[in-house]
Amino acid sequence: MQNNKVKQTASPRMMDKVGRSKARSISHTMSDDTRFKPLCPRCGELRCFIHIYAFVFALKTTRAALHGDRYIRGHWLSICPICDAYLLMREFTWSVPFYSPHDMAVICIADYGCVDATSVLEFGNLCFTPNALRGALEMLRKQTRPDGRDGDAIERLDRELLGPTGIPDDDSARAEWIAQLELLVVKWPERIGLAELDAAVRTIIEQVPNVEK
Ligand SMILES: [Zn+2]
Repeated sequence: MQNNKVKQTASPRMMDKVGRSKARSISHTMSDDTRFKPLCPRCGELRCFIHIYAFVFALKTTRAALHGDRYIRGHWLSICPICDAYLLMREFTWSVPFYSPHDMAVICIADYGCVDATSVLEFGNLCFTPNALRGALEMLRKQTRPDGRDGDAIERLDRELLGPTGIPDDDSARAEWIAQLELLVVKWPERIGLAELDAAVRTIIEQVPNVEK
């Protein structure tokens, strides 16, 4: 099924970094559900996934018309990067992040079909594009009080977010989480506090479907 397509099309670097086990887990679990069809029934494109929170944000922002060919599982909805391009904020200067099995990364609609493996960012083993992080930051800035994410105070670690990052869930998890944030803050082209970056990274990770929960 779609995992074969992923293996043929994802770059070797991204295959290694994102983690084969996670991708296999997603494909395997989805394939256990006989209702799930990996390809969009309207256009045949490989479906992507988005957390319902980002989906509602995009829907409110774009007021896009919805079609019925959608798969809902847990906190995630399937989206088609072709049929849902407008919903995914293609016409905006920034757009919501979502998970693309084709790229094995969290991306934005502007990245679809042109993910450049040399410029993807990483948090642990999870790859995402600079546009995806930009989208997450803009979403948070639209929703958070101006004084809500200042400084470098990191919120309590949400262990449910560790899975997609490959960070081991043990006593060192928080230290590793902060180390990954500090690596990312250096790469980000603008001055940004760890607290705001932490919140955006959590939004990025939330887009990766974890249907085992
Ligand atoms: Zn489609």
